[in-house]
Amino acid sequence: CDSRPGPVRTTCAYCGVGCGVLATPDGTGGAAIEGDPDHPANFGRLCVKGSALGETVGLEGRLLAPQIGGQETDWDQALDLVARRFAGTIAAHGPDSVAFYVSGQLLTEDYYVANKLMKGFIGSGNIDTNSRLCMASSVAGHRRAFGSDTVPGLYEDLEMADTVVLTGSNLAWCHPVLYQRLAAAKTARPSMRVVVIDPRRTATCDIADLHLAIEPGSDAALFNALLAEIDRRGLASARFRDHLAGADEAIAAARLSDPSMTGLDPAELARFLEIWLASEKVVTVYSQGINQSDSGTDKVNAIINCHLLTGRIGREGMGPFSVTGQPNAMGGREVGGLANMLACHLEIENPMHRDTVRDFWNSPHIAERPGLKAVDMFRAVEDGRIKALWIICTNPAVSMPDADRVARAIAGCDFTVVSDVMARTDTTRLADVLLPATGWGEKNGTVTNSERRISRQRPFLPAPGQARDDWRILAGVGRRMGWPDAFAWQHPAEIFAEYAALSEIAGTLGSDFDISACAAMTRAEYDRMAPILWPQSATRKGGRFFADGRFHTADGKARMLPIRPQLPEAIADGHLFRLNTGRVRDHWHTMTRTGKSPRLARHLAEPFLELHPDDAKRLNLQPADLARVANRHGTSVLRVLVTDRVKPGHPFAPIHWTGETGKAGRVGAVVPAAVDPVSGQPALKSAAVSIERY
Ligand code: SF4
Repeated sequence: CDSRPGPVRTTCAYCGVGCGVLATPDGTGGAAIEGDPDHPANFGRLCVKGSALGETVGLEGRLLAPQIGGQETDWDQALDLVARRFAGTIAAHGPDSVAFYVSGQLLTEDYYVANKLMKGFIGSGNIDTNSRLCMASSVAGHRRAFGSDTVPGLYEDLEMADTVVLTGSNLAWCHPVLYQRLAAAKTARPSMRVVVIDPRRTATCDIADLHLAIEPGSDAALFNALLAEIDRRGLASARFRDHLAGADEAIAAARLSDPSMTGLDPAELARFLEIWLASEKVVTVYSQGINQSDSGTDKVNAIINCHLLTGRIGREGMGPFSVTGQPNAMGGREVGGLANMLACHLEIENPMHRDTVRDFWNSPHIAERPGLKAVDMFRAVEDGRIKALWIICTNPAVSMPDADRVARAIAGCDFTVVSDVMARTDTTRLADVLLPATGWGEKNGTVTNSERRISRQRPFLPAPGQARDDWRILAGVGRRMGWPDAFAWQHPAEIFAEYAALSEIAGTLGSDFDISACAAMTRAEYDRMAPILWPQSATRKGGRFFADGRFHTADGKARMLPIRPQLPEAIADGHLFRLNTGRVRDHWHTMTRTGKSPRLARHLAEPFLELHPDDAKRLNLQPADLARVANRHGTSVLRVLVTDRVKPGHPFAPIHWTGETGKAGRVGAVVPAAVDPVSGQPALKSAAVSIERY
């Protein structure tokens, strides 16, 4: 526990690195921000986004009072209406006629309450999260391989490794402090090798010994080539082989796979194999470039296969490592924020798990099957199966694929509630009821970062206007719907303690997620809580998973999967280009927060299209021209940036900018809603488009 006085210790609002922040209010509504030197994720470092957090906490543009039909009202009127409309819809059409769409930026306590209300009391699985867009394929890949959604390693493994492979990850811009840690480790130990696998030459390549500009989407073919080579050279771990199932099938599939799909020349491929195989200590880091694909789960398992066969997992400096986009994507996974999971990594398809959670909650029923995942959820809104929708802390009218269609679906829904910090977003303007939520600096709770570290977000500013914490808003609706005892908390510490108590029971059912040591935490202890790695039980505190070869499957063995690599569908319909999407260094998601900081806006002021010089010449486009990027889903207008960072035929555009289709750089409008069949994660990285002068 941490009881020192001074600035408020909290956690950054942005990426999954989860950096500790020291915030000192300046008395005028802003705050001085420093990195927390004692936080084990960042040891005092912050990236430019984190450093500018103090510039984003002002009240301009904030939603400060509940609204019904655009008119301000009070909380009782607003919550009575939400409870009445949801209860009426459920009574008339059943529990699956309503849905919650939530966010990886909710705190764990908010997420817990939303999940309890939907799955335990409304009795539907229809709660999904924007984390579906971020890392659902990592979750599915972990569960297929390990029998649980467990991140085996720790950040320090990147510093301890002899080789770090980054695939589908622009770590330098998307997880900057983790990148800084890696870069510092490589400077201190120049023998460390860094390999970057990315069709685009990103800032992360600055520290790369080898950059493999593979064909977009061909990562599984590359890791299959590695798996086949591991087998050919007899490098499978004798120690680990008895702990694996499916190895022969996975190796046979890898042997059949065609390495030329990667587009690499044989010398480049051989160099990659040499580097990977020469090091016992290898970490393979992957992120959205792997996950946001219609075969993302297979790509995840192709990576994990190589680590399992060589036993390079769960020990210092080795393992597959998924880095999450959002500050609490991991917390959402743990608490059951995905439509196909229960709290504490319990499984919705497992009757014993369902009964256990229902008994613990003393709830009238519990969802008996997985709910609709994000893309399917908005399809159900569109066709009227979902008649009441509550969107919390996210902006799907911009961030979802096929974003224009999603916006039309929300606009056509019988009853839409939006809880948000900001008054005017592309999604809030579609709401029947708007509920003002507290934001970063005002909220109180916990988040989990990419290495399983639970940290506190603490308030240092008062809640403005009538804004309320999301858990309190949800609990108010739960009580009004007829469940006062189940939603009676007065403080987030009580929610966290309930969650920790549920995890103790989950642990007895074999769940990896056990924080039962926190179940008896007092409010004062919760207030002082220092960052902790889960698990936190009577017998185990933190550490790595799986070095002992024991996994969470029924027979205790890990599963290797036979992977048949697929490239994205061939470009059709006369489109000439495959658009790649991603983030920029200084903006976050749909910019509702980072857009407030002049310092952050200076880095890249407007939406742009990176175009290879050959493509620019063919299209007769000059640097700084405006280009119209279009397909049958929508149109985006972008400033041309001519660069050989991208390959011919594979332009790149950032995801952050919003606005009306055809007039602005909202690239979600042109991304189709194709999904991975296992995880339901949309293939946001890839859109076939045509490009012309605007
Ligand atoms: Fe925040 Fe991520 Fe930057 Fe750390 S690396 S300061 S968590 S945005």
